[in-house]
Amino acid sequence: MSKTPFLTKEKATEIIAEYPTPFHIYDEKGLRENAENLLKAFSWNKGFKEYFAVKATPNPFLINILREYGCGCDCSSMTELMLSKAIGAVGDDIMFSSNDTPLEEFKFCNDLGGIINLDDITHIEAVEKACGKLPKKMSCRYNPGGVFQISNSIMDNPGDAKYGMTTEQIFEAFKIMKEKGVEEFGIHSFLCSNTVTNDYYPMLAKVLFELAVELRDKVGVKITFINLSGGVGIPYRPDQEPNDIFRIGEGVRKVYEEVLTPAGMDDIAIFTEMGRYMMGPYGALVTTAINEKHTHKEYIGVDACAVNLMRPAVYGAYHHITVLGKENALHDHVYDVTGSLCENCDKFAIDRRLPEIEMGDIIYIHDTGAHGYSMGYNYNGKLKSAELLLQTDGGVKLIRRAETPKDYFATFDCFDFYDKVLDE
Ligand SMILES: *Cc1c(COP(=O)(O)O)cnc(C)c1O
Repeated sequence: MSKTPFLTKEKATEIIAEYPTPFHIYDEKGLRENAENLLKAFSWNKGFKEYFAVKATPNPFLINILREYGCGCDCSSMTELMLSKAIGAVGDDIMFSSNDTPLEEFKFCNDLGGIINLDDITHIEAVEKACGKLPKKMSCRYNPGGVFQISNSIMDNPGDAKYGMTTEQIFEAFKIMKEKGVEEFGIHSFLCSNTVTNDYYPMLAKVLFELAVELRDKVGVKITFINLSGGVGIPYRPDQEPNDIFRIGEGVRKVYEEVLTPAGMDDIAIFTEMGRYMMGPYGALVTTAINEKHTHKEYIGVDACAVNLMRPAVYGAYHHITVLGKENALHDHVYDVTGSLCENCDKFAIDRRLPEIEMGDIIYIHDTGAHGYSMGYNYNGKLKSAELLLQTDGGVKLIRRAETPKDYFATFDCFDFYDKVLDE
């Protein structure tokens, strides 16, 4: 199997004439089709809502496209809340799934009318302190511990994760919150990351639905939503089978009808907080080959670096690479494709079979639409790239300009530092 870029060499060349590499570019058409399919897959559930995980791609232009499909914003910091506010996503359009949360962020979220999802039982007091009293509608994050297994394979290790409350704690938390006047409850859980199987959501749903029935029976709370959070993955590797969102939606429906419907709880809304699945495949990092080096290995240096995409550097993540215009050429060279940081982990690919790369070739790095631009930083004084939107009609729009040295030096404004740089 192969992966197909959403840009041809001709189109990329045309774009580069106006916007120099490196840049991230997003495919509006793909993004919209995917959002539509998600809605269809869960249309059986009346209250279904996707809260896009803002951290994955915090660009208001892109999130506004998702807003057309009824998506809200899943936030976990002050600036993410501010971004949501700026695009008019307030009230029930905000899910605040934070952890280790400062009091002023609880207050800010509450002032916007957002739904606060508590990561810890001690946060009940924190929210009271921050907001005066508890909001009428609240959610708690659940972590059953142990390992999350599908048949014999361990998918992830919730017992090692810092997030969420234990079973005992969530019962206790719901009891306390009910006594303190909370009227509507939600349950949230995020147990596995980047799953490429149609079974994750249905299995998680079963755990949460059974918990919901027990919480209602034992604590007498009214549960109005269950948030399956993120974790639905994408096939970064060409040999991986993509998730089928329709099978996932049907899988959740089946469990819903097995567990919630007989318990008379079939008015519960299903929420999701997907980031990667919504945006990952619809973004690419476009960069140019600017150096070749033949030492102990064959290196191709490009004009992007881990500042633009740090997943390979931090977790050895695989991102597929296409050399535009050479899609069908023989992949008979083995390269490390590197960025320019003074860190040896700054490699987009290690020992990758690729066609022969010449200087000036356009390198297309796939699946950077989520946790790509957003994870970037400024190490080595490198500047963050522009973000472009490839519109449905084929036009290209700048949706975030590239950083300039002025942006990099802006936080020294107390010393008029930038003026000195300019004076030299
Ligand atoms: C990161 C995150 C998400 C999104 O995860 P994806 O793997 O991108 O789908 C959703 N909810 C919370 C609370 C998160 O921290």
